Amino acid sequence: MKATKEDNNPLRSLPSVHRLLAAPAVRAIGARVPAPVLTEAARSVLEAVRAELVAGNGRGVATPSEAELAERVVAEAQRRAAPSLQAAVNATGIVLHTGLGRARLSAAAQRAVQEVAAAHAVLEIERETGRRGSRRDHVRGLLCELTGAEDATVVNNCAGAVFLAVMTLAAGREVLISRGELVEIGGAFRMPDIIRASGATLVEVGTTNRTRLSDYANAITERTGLILRCHPSNFAIVGFTEEVPTAALAALSKEHGLPVMDDQGSGALIAPSELGIGGQKGSLKDSLAAGCEVVTASGDKLLGGPQAGLILGRREPIERIAKHPLARALRVDKLTLAALEATLCLYREPDRALAEIPTLRYLTRTEPELRRLAQRLKTKLQTALPPDRFLLTLVPERSQIGGGSLPGEDLPTVCVALRALDGVPSPDEIAAHLRHHTPPIFARIKADAVLFDPRTLEPEELDFIAQAVRNL
Ligand SMILES: *Cc1c(COP(=O)(O)O)cnc(C)c1O
Repeated sequence: MKATKEDNNPLRSLPSVHRLLAAPAVRAIGARVPAPVLTEAARSVLEAVRAELVAGNGRGVATPSEAELAERVVAEAQRRAAPSLQAAVNATGIVLHTGLGRARLSAAAQRAVQEVAAAHAVLEIERETGRRGSRRDHVRGLLCELTGAEDATVVNNCAGAVFLAVMTLAAGREVLISRGELVEIGGAFRMPDIIRASGATLVEVGTTNRTRLSDYANAITERTGLILRCHPSNFAIVGFTEEVPTAALAALSKEHGLPVMDDQGSGALIAPSELGIGGQKGSLKDSLAAGCEVVTASGDKLLGGPQAGLILGRREPIERIAKHPLARALRVDKLTLAALEATLCLYREPDRALAEIPTLRYLTRTEPELRRLAQRLKTKLQTALPPDRFLLTLVPERSQIGGGSLPGEDLPTVCVALRALDGVPSPDEIAAHLRHHTPPIFARIKADAVLFDPRTLEPEELDFIAQAVRNL
């Protein structure tokens, strides 16, 4: 009796790890998946199946065949071997999507990264003398040429740039900042925290919606070390508002022998107003011309380059910032510098920058171009989907700029809306399916539809979306 029961035990008929690894389907991926990953995958699949069988306790749960098990091992091994950081398709239309890595690099920047990645590079060496040089020199000249700054240095990101600059210029002293500019950028970057962490004391001036020059003037004491301006990059205060023009602030600080620093964040080399995408916000050059001693900005926002924090301005404060011991802890590597230099080079000819830097190209796409792309995508999706189950339409929409750049300045676009006629699968289910595709695709959901915004898509990416919807 006991023996019979054991013979019927489905757990007993499961193959061993060793045997599964020898299955033809598993052997076939052996060249692409490391052996330890395959072994772990086989072990975990067998464990999962055993648990399923035990939970089913013989009631209707069939033991999978060896071929079925092998397929599961292949899928599991491929999942485990796949890189975590993968290229993705951004169909959200959000040009600077922080979750999707913000700016996409130009072809020139990609080539520059590739070249220095594959070889040694003259990162910190003087070619004249063969002696140790400075990594700052690779982009300093270009940054000065493009912005009118006297000097420049680059660190890991803009948060780091602000931290380093405030610490160098105002540690142990007071920093004046308008109450309307005490921003949180996201990812736990809060201006008041940064100021405190840098060892300076925060002094708030004015009110949330209105700050006047006299508010700054009245707050200046012998303890003041810096007047800080921060571009409120992810919200806009509208209505009864007043802020002090940067030039007036610079004049006031000069009177008192104090530096003014402008944290621009978005970091435009071409003013957004010139791109036709924003009201009054100026460029880095405008901020320096207005008299700011130091200006900070991100490399991967409106500039369209790699993640970096640019610190530009007058020679004396920039030199001090670059020599601060913490500058070493925030320094950039050769890949970042290569991408940044190549990106900056494009700005020497603004038309080239507009044509070749994806961020600028996406921001300036015209409605007819967006409509053409949307129509092409719709046609491709129509071919890929059964017509009796899904509905595809073109809808006028708005694209966000994102990345904390120009709040309230969204751009008109044309989206492809996809919905299942009977609501199955739901928009959430469709979006989840797209995210699990290779490459993962990110779209927007609005009401009962999934929206694909062509603003941030390259023509070849339309095919990825069509492939992904095929097996919905
Ligand atoms: C985005 C932003 C930052 C942070 O920049 P990161 O490069 O993401 O570190 C700081 N200040 C302002 C005003 C910003 O807009």
